[in-house]
Amino acid sequence: MRRLTEIAPGVLVATSSYDQTTTTVVVGPSGCLLIDPAVTLAELAQLVVELRERDIRPVAAWSTHPHWDHVLWARGLGAAPRYATPAAVRVTETQRVELTRETQRAAPGHDFSVLARLTPLDAPAIPWDGPEAHVIVHDGHAPGHGAVFLPATGMLVAGDMCSDVEIPLLDLDAADPLGDYRTGLELLASVPGVRQVVPGHGHVGDADEFRRRLTADAAYLDALAFGQPLGDPRLTAGSPEWLAGIHQKQLRYVRMPGS
Ligand SMILES: [Zn+2]
Repeated sequence: MRRLTEIAPGVLVATSSYDQTTTTVVVGPSGCLLIDPAVTLAELAQLVVELRERDIRPVAAWSTHPHWDHVLWARGLGAAPRYATPAAVRVTETQRVELTRETQRAAPGHDFSVLARLTPLDAPAIPWDGPEAHVIVHDGHAPGHGAVFLPATGMLVAGDMCSDVEIPLLDLDAADPLGDYRTGLELLASVPGVRQVVPGHGHVGDADEFRRRLTADAAYLDALAFGQPLGDPRLTAGSPEWLAGIHQKQLRYVRMPGS
């Protein structure tokens, strides 16, 4: 895992060796807001050390959505309140066994007593003493998916949306996966003043890149819905097999919903 890199004043990110997962640290006066700390046991241990070295302890945390790679924690990160949307917390509570299993399979050794111990937050912003952190909630990708926008720096921490390495991954258990995803994209597109986008997986992009990804994601959804052949650059020969697998699954779904 690369060490934390400052991408804007007081905003640091680290990228995991697992699926290019992003950890975001927002520095405030009394500590930091930690978003989606990830992924492997060693990487979280390194995060603990690095935050200690920088003398910034987590005072609040946010999980963007209820998938195992976004609800991780290590005891060394402390006991700050860890928030997520109420819908996301409901999912983690009902799927705790599955979350634990998936975590153990993909990133073994984690302390499950701190996995997904989340507090539901039904508010437009994360309560903490640092830079304003607005929450943008939709159901694209997962129920109660909450992106975070930091108006002071124009940072959009997008969760598992707007990725340069992953196609839109739909929540196929939802009643209207395509509609939910489109609503999510529209909500993100309507945020004024985005200067950089921080995806849950992939690379940080500037404002132009943010717009390009929104367009690419909308184009993917359209092509999927109309069953057109896709030339999405994220589905090239070099992309991971599981991603192509999900694409096939999504194609099957739009051809025959509920199958
Ligand atoms: Zn993810």
